[in-house]
Amino acid sequence: MIRKVTAMNSRETLMKLCMAFGPTGAEDKVSQVIEEMVRPYVDEIRRDAMGNLIAVKRGQGKGKVMVAAHMDQIGLMVTSIDENGFLRVANVGGIAPRSVLYRQVTFENGTVGCVGLNAKAPSLDKVTLEHVFIDIGCESRAEALEKVQIGDTCIMQANFLDMGQRMSSPAMDNRSACAVLVEALKRLDTPAMDVYGVFTTQEEVGLRGAKTAAFAIQPDVGIAVDITGESSYPEAEATCSMKMGQGAAVKVRDASVFCTPAVVRWMEETAKEEGIPYQREVLTFGGTDTQAIQLTGAGIPAGCISIPGRYIHSMCETIDGRDYEAAIALLAALLKKEYQH
Ligand SMILES: [Zn+2]
Repeated sequence: MIRKVTAMNSRETLMKLCMAFGPTGAEDKVSQVIEEMVRPYVDEIRRDAMGNLIAVKRGQGKGKVMVAAHMDQIGLMVTSIDENGFLRVANVGGIAPRSVLYRQVTFENGTVGCVGLNAKAPSLDKVTLEHVFIDIGCESRAEALEKVQIGDTCIMQANFLDMGQRMSSPAMDNRSACAVLVEALKRLDTPAMDVYGVFTTQEEVGLRGAKTAAFAIQPDVGIAVDITGESSYPEAEATCSMKMGQGAAVKVRDASVFCTPAVVRWMEETAKEEGIPYQREVLTFGGTDTQAIQLTGAGIPAGCISIPGRYIHSMCETIDGRDYEAAIALLAALLKKEYQH
């Protein structure tokens, strides 16, 4: 009897990636999960010295396109352990002290803990990471050292919430984009250009993985995929024009980059041709791997497909399934075509 193997659907891919452990600097686990997902669909897969996972699908000799989706998520790193076994921490990426308070955390080796607050801490708006600590249930430094070391990083623990159309997880930035890249690679038949799908490291601390990957690949065009802001929740109207549920966002700029106009046009024209819902994105803050690619060597045309999201860099990062699907469709459509400048 032949048993039918059903491929994971796009939502299952997203959920699985959101559950993987991968704070900045410790992306191995999420990288392994991704490797397993994409291996059957690409010609070559490798890792570089920065830990980037590079999946290559050969095309018809029309040049090279690099697509970057960062694997790392924000977290906390142990800086010291006091004599009573409480862990003191530093931020890994842009994590707000208020958002980590009284949360559950997990370390790579499975050690779990709670984030507590110093009993003499000031009011919540004045709390810094110096006032918080991680309680891993130990009573002494020696006992704590059996579970964690200085330099270990933890992530905030929370379930993947499936609210129907909308979904939430502390790792939505940027596993939703990793999932978009995985799903687009799965849909590639014979692309026009060689496709370098790069799952990058250390984006949250300064776009570091994408920088070395772009230097090594020297693509003709680069596309980053990441999450962006949106403005359809209370009092957010003035922050930007992107709205959840209105399609993939084609970035024009963020604080790190002005996307190459020809790449923006390429994205918009493709979305129109294919009937894929999209919206233009201007974000006045934030940065993405787009910048790292664009500033490589003598400069590389680069753009970005974004997924509008709410509560970014909190434990409840929320996106809309329609925007997620539109981002997959747009990336897959772009990768079938040649980039002409
Ligand atoms: Zn991101």
